[in-house]
Amino acid sequence: MKHFLIIGSGVVGMAVARALALRKAGKITLLDKESFPGKHASSRNSGVIHSGINQKPGSLKAEMCVRGSRLLREYCRGHHVPVSECGTLVVARREEETAVLERLLDLGNQCGVPDLRIIDSSELKQREPLAQGVAALLSPTGAAVDIEALLRALAEEDRKLGIHFGLDTEVINIDGHTVVTSQGPVHADYIVNCAGAHADRIAHFMDVGMEFRIIPFRGDYLEVKDCDVRTMIYQVPDLCFPFLSVHLTRETDGRVIAGPTATLSFGREAYRKEWDLREMLGMFGSRQFRRLVFHPEFLRLCIKNGILSLSKVAFYREIKTLVPCVEYRQLRPFRSGIRAQIVNSKGEMVTDMLVVHKDFSTHVLNAVSPGFTCSLAFAEHIADQILSRS
Ligand SMILES: Cc1cc2nc3c(=O)[nH]c(=O)nc-3n(C[C@H](O)[C@H](O)[C@H](O)COP(=O)(O)OP(=O)(O)OC[C@H]3O[C@@H](n4cnc5c(N)ncnc54)[C@H](O)[C@@H]3O)c2cc1C
Repeated sequence: MKHFLIIGSGVVGMAVARALALRKAGKITLLDKESFPGKHASSRNSGVIHSGINQKPGSLKAEMCVRGSRLLREYCRGHHVPVSECGTLVVARREEETAVLERLLDLGNQCGVPDLRIIDSSELKQREPLAQGVAALLSPTGAAVDIEALLRALAEEDRKLGIHFGLDTEVINIDGHTVVTSQGPVHADYIVNCAGAHADRIAHFMDVGMEFRIIPFRGDYLEVKDCDVRTMIYQVPDLCFPFLSVHLTRETDGRVIAGPTATLSFGREAYRKEWDLREMLGMFGSRQFRRLVFHPEFLRLCIKNGILSLSKVAFYREIKTLVPCVEYRQLRPFRSGIRAQIVNSKGEMVTDMLVVHKDFSTHVLNAVSPGFTCSLAFAEHIADQILSRS
């Protein structure tokens, strides 16, 4: 029986394991350096099931997001995972921004996002009394999910399907079919790299994706206490940036969170703004980063988000543009997450999902946001590709 070894038990790794097991691929092992699955990006995000607006028509991400959104909502209903199907609102705060709403509506329709429509300020007030805007794009299929419950359900299902979890096991090298780990060597017939923020390093062990490097961006959140936001409120995005701007999300437990920012991070797991010297030397020394810094949109992104990350007052002002009645005293520190953004040798941030196959291995190099939403559809896509070549 063929042994599939999956590195990384985040939402993508667990979903790929599930998809392979449902296809009766063979023996499956999931390795993770942490003591429980989903400790990194998968549990440090907004928990929004995105509907697929703001995606590029024809891209893999657009296809995975629209299909993934449907599959994930169905999965949650079928596995008793709390999900709040409240819809999302992208709010135009000024007349000039309404043109972007029209553009988003068009993009969303081209991608097949169901039931999108633009609403006027009075319907906006009715749906979301605290929001301020001249119009909004309503996407009824946007939803918020209980992230922890979903990760638990996936891990439980994987175990029931006979998938073995090798936790506290860090992959430190790969030599042919031998995966060298902190717990000793493991033989694999097929290797699937789902290592999130470390996926480039794992790929480089196998001479794959040498032209790419992951640049980490930290997303900080604040909790907004006693806030009566009912749904999810987004700013009109800057379509030049790969990341969405600060938004407000009502989580399934009723808590309202604001964020995330998108600030250059000096460590792949630097959730508390630590500086990882080894990571910094590697990053500044890489040609991908040296070229990235000359891209004007990267500089704009860093300046704007750097200020938000350093100054709670600036973050507060950003929140107030969406919900003016929020007061500074309502804000509390909340979690941070790190986005693993792949940058190519030209210094460009790759915006689509990126999967590279070589010999007996598959590498998920760019499972960027909304990777959580995409996970089940993306996993089916990856499993089918693996089985067609192994
Ligand atoms: C701030 C933020 C907000 C986001 N908001 C949303 C959202 O609202 N909706 C949405 O759909 N998506 C969102 N995303 C995106 C989503 O969270 C990610 O796309 C998704 O979680 C990626 O999952 P993953 O499994 O690839 O990575 P991860 O969850 O990071 O999993 C990778 C795993 O690999 C393991 N690993 C790494 N290196 C090794 C090694 N050497 N040996 C063994 N194990 C290793 C790690 O321990 C980790 O468990 C957001 C992301 C961030 C950061």
